This record gives sequence, C-alpha cells and structure tokens, in this order.
Amino acid sequence: MFGLCNTTEKYTKNFITLQRCMISTIYVLLEYYGHSEMQSTSQIPNNYDIDYENLIFYKNFQRIQPSQNQTTPNLAKYWITYIKPQDSNIINNLIKDKFKDRCDLLKHLKTFMKVKVDDTIYLKALLCDCESVNYTEIKEIVSQALIESKGITQKIKIEKADIPLNKPFDKDLNKKWSSEIWPIVWKGNPMIQELHESYKSFKVENDLKYIKLITELANSKHEDNQLPVVTIFVDPKIDRIISTQLDTRSPQNPIKHSIMNCIEEIAENECCRRKTASEEDSKASSNNYLCLNYHVYTTHEPCTMCSMALLHSRIDKLVYIKDSTITGSIGRESGNGYMIHLSCSLNWKFESFKYIGDQYNAPSIDEYIEV
Ligand SMILES: [Zn+2]
Repeated sequence: MFGLCNTTEKYTKNFITLQRCMISTIYVLLEYYGHSEMQSTSQIPNNYDIDYENLIFYKNFQRIQPSQNQTTPNLAKYWITYIKPQDSNIINNLIKDKFKDRCDLLKHLKTFMKVKVDDTIYLKALLCDCESVNYTEIKEIVSQALIESKGITQKIKIEKADIPLNKPFDKDLNKKWSSEIWPIVWKGNPMIQELHESYKSFKVENDLKYIKLITELANSKHEDNQLPVVTIFVDPKIDRIISTQLDTRSPQNPIKHSIMNCIEEIAENECCRRKTASEEDSKASSNNYLCLNYHVYTTHEPCTMCSMALLHSRIDKLVYIKDSTITGSIGRESGNGYMIHLSCSLNWKFESFKYIGDQYNAPSIDEYIEV
C-alpha cells in the first residue's frame, strides 16, 4: 500500500513536471513568435540550418536585424488621392511607373484603403512620400495619368496621410495599425518571412571563401601605422571580386577607409570603361548605381560614412567579422544603434551579417577608430 502510494505520488510528480515543461515550452514559443504565430512555427522547413533564436545561418553568420518587440509605428507622411474603384488599375500602373522605390520599400502596405464619402465608395490610394515630391507635382502626375487613361479631366483630391514604415510583428498589432493608420498586408510574422527570404539566397560556401580571403590579407604584414582593415566587393552574379582594398588613411587624407577605397576604385574603373566603350555598349551595360547588388566582405564593422556609402551604392549584402561597438553603424548595439542597412527613413536597404565562426579572425584595432 505504502509502495503504491509512493508510485502514484511519483507518477503525479512526473506528470506535473512534464506539464510544467510543456507549458514553459509553449510560453517560450509564444514569447518568441507572437501569440498569433503558432501556426507558422509548424511551417518552418526542417532542412533550414537556421538558429531562429539567435538569427544565425549555418552556425557562422548572424543576421543583423532589430528586435521584434517594437509596438509603436515609425510614421511618415505620404501623399494619397481619392479614386473610384474602377480606376485602381490606373493608379497601380502609375505607381509601378513613377514610384517603384516606394513599392519595393513598402511591400507590407496595401495600396488602397476603402472609404465611404456621401454614400459613395471611394478608394484612398497611397502614392509617394511628401518629402520627395511636392503638392503641385503630385497633383499634376495624378491628373496626367487619369487624363491619359480616360481622356477626360476630373477634379483631383490630394491629401497627406500617416503610414507605418515598420512592419507589425504580430497579427493583433497588424489589425490595430491597419484600422487606425493604413491597411497592412499580413503574411505571417515578418521576421520569420524575412529570415527565410534571406536564407534562400544565402550561399555559405562563397561567404566562407571571401571571409577566409579578407582575414588572410588583414593578418599579413602591412606598412607601419597602416590599419589591418580589408574590404572586398564581389559581384555575386558571376562570383568575381571587383575590388580589394586596405585602409590607407593619412593625416592628409583621413577618409581613405577600405570601403571608400573600394568604391573609388570601382568608380575609376567605370569611368575608364565608359571612355573606351562604344555608345551602344555604354547604353547596354551602364546603370546609375556603381555597386548595385554587390556583396561586400570587410574585416571590421563600418563607420557611418562607409555604411552610408554602401547604402548609396545600393549593395545587396554586407558581411563583417569584428564589431565596432563604439564607432559602427550596423550592429544593433553599435554606436548610436542606427542599423543604417535597415533604416526605415532611407530609400534602400541591404542585408547585413556578422561572421561569428571561430575559424577565421580579424586583427583587433583601437575601438575608438572609425573604419
Ligand atoms: Zn569608414
């Protein structure tokens, strides 16, 4: 009898422990994915080598992205106009034609919001940001589009509206911002979506190859007083190095950081190419962004100047090895926490990763030096 009681007690204790474990596991999952996201956890492909908690791909590359617990929207003023539902195609074509940047950056926003004015249904259409185009210009653009499509002039109403630049991280917040600010597309937790999108285009062998190369160069002998900071720019379409540069700053020229040197070299090469290329070749192969969709590998997290230069050059991906906790502009905890590569207020974004493996190492430098 005594033994039976003991056994029953043991089973009860085990059951309670098991139950607690299950509850805490569910609690952790709820905390991490947001309570509306339980369904999406079951959709995570099991062949992906991703550490979801620490945002690490292939155990070596940590994706740099903001924490997902922001509950307030980063608002911006955008132009909107009122149209009849049957004119939505005209606006869709206008946006594709004139405001493609806006489409790419704000994929999470719906283009139209249904409204009722004097018992008539209209659509509010989201156009572009108020900073890049003024009221007269946007009115003229919309007016022209409607005239060209319908052949008639009509009264146009243009207004300013707030829109959220950041994506809500769970379904309830999505619903709240959609009803209070502007309708937002919901395809599941945006952090998981972004992580998967990024992972699909990740070529780990190439990244390791270039990380190895920059660490070898940084660790080889340099001239006295030269910083062991190395950057390479790669065109991933052809897997070819376009530029390799060291930091060559001097008191006379303090901005010759390795990234700036690479961009300068690429610009000079492009100038030469344009001088010698025939007119037809120039038209066929030139674009307005020198480093469009390039991958950049650098030994040390870049400073604000270099990060902005990468953004203006429209690179696709940055991989660095050492944090610049005081002077960097990419890491979540670095410098002023700008995370320039994902800044909502700029017109381009790029992927950023920190190499966290222990196979390759970059030399340490003074943490107050901007690189
Ligand atoms: Zn720099």
